[in-house]
Parts: sequence; structure tokens; C-alpha cells
Amino acid sequence: MLEPLASFVWLGCECIITGLVGFFFREEGQGVYLPIRSFCGEARQARPYTVLAPVDSRQGPGDYDRKVNVNDREILLYPAHVLSQVAQPVEADDASIGPLATRMVDLMFEANGAGLAAPQVGVLKRLFVTIDPADETASVVWINPQLTIVDETIESGIEGCLSLPGLDVSVRRAIGVHIRGLDLEGNAIEAVSSDHMARVWQHEHDHLDGRLIIDRMSTMDRLRSRRALRDLVRGKD
Ligand code: ZN
Repeated sequence: MLEPLASFVWLGCECIITGLVGFFFREEGQGVYLPIRSFCGEARQARPYTVLAPVDSRQGPGDYDRKVNVNDREILLYPAHVLSQVAQPVEADDASIGPLATRMVDLMFEANGAGLAAPQVGVLKRLFVTIDPADETASVVWINPQLTIVDETIESGIEGCLSLPGLDVSVRRAIGVHIRGLDLEGNAIEAVSSDHMARVWQHEHDHLDGRLIIDRMSTMDRLRSRRALRDLVRGKD
């Protein structure tokens, strides 16, 4: 009887403390929540994510060291250790990137995702794939991508993540981004976006630095997501 009560009281204290800290120490220009923009679109959000990771892929610092056939790679779920690691640049002569990108594109479409980063399949290399904004049945491969914020206006938007099924949280991002990187042939490619794709690029680029949406979510979303995160840690889907 006392334990649930204590847990509830602590939850309230935690909420008040983090709220006060957030209010007094918020960054300049980020104190106002702007209108929510959907991350994946209503149709995408309405469909449940396909859970693809095998149970034994969830835990362990060595999960990215295993020699896994590229076609056997699956989307790893939080709290797989690799998801919090910083990925390394892709070398120019890395012949494994082509088959890896092909597998990632297949997994992204299979899971109805808008993007997928290499660490999510257990590979710590700076590479991600996204849907092609001009044709959502096509894909774009970004190798060693670099982002430049071209419009620093911050906007909140609902994001999900294929490595965090069951969570949809509000994340604050810059609305205008320029991206440059390499394609699979080694050609320099670049693009600019001030809409949905700018958010996707920032989300996927975060994965290359070991950062997840749960590292950026609001205090309220953190509280709201406690059960879903706990279930992921315990291995429930
Ligand atoms: Zn993600």
C-alpha cells in the first residue's frame, strides 16, 4: 500500500523539480512550444511499427561486434548498447556499405519507417537511409552526412523511432536544415529542407551520435513514456 503511494509522491516531486529546472535553465529562444507538426504523417502514425529485433539483440555491449551476415541484420530495439554509441566515418574503400544500405532500405520500408541509421542495425558507421521526399516509394542513402542548420527556428513535432516501438514523443528541432554527404557511388550530394525531411535528417543524424528521441523528449513525455520504456527494457513488445 505504501509503495505505490511513495512512488506517486516521488513522481510528483520529480515532475515539479524538473519543471522548475527546465523553466529557469531553458536555453535562450527555446522557451516557447511551437505548433506540433506530425513526424510521420497521420497514415504512417496510424500503422503499428513492425517489431523486428530478435530478443537476444536487445542487450549487451558486444551486440555490434558480432560478425552478422548483412541479410540477417535486423532493427535493434532500445536498450541495445549500440544505440548509445557514436558511429565512425565510412572509409572510401569500404565495400560493405552497398549491401548494408540495401538491407537497411528493405528494413525501413518493411517497418513503414521514414528513415533508418546504421547503428540501428548494429553497425557503428556514419550512414543512414531515408525515404525520397519526391517519391516515398524510393530511398536516399546518405554516407558521412553533415547537417547545417539554415533556419534556427525551433518547432516541436511528434516523432517515433523504429528502435523504440510504442513511443511517440514531442521533440524540438530546427525547421531548416542543409545536408551534404556521399551517395553509394562516392558522389557528393546535398539537399535543403524546411519541412518533414529536415526533421527526419536530424533524427537520423542523432542516431549516428548515439542520441535517441528519449534523450530529447520533454519532462511530460518522459513521465508518460515510463511504462513503455520499462517494457522495452524488460523485453516486452
Ligand atoms: Zn530513430
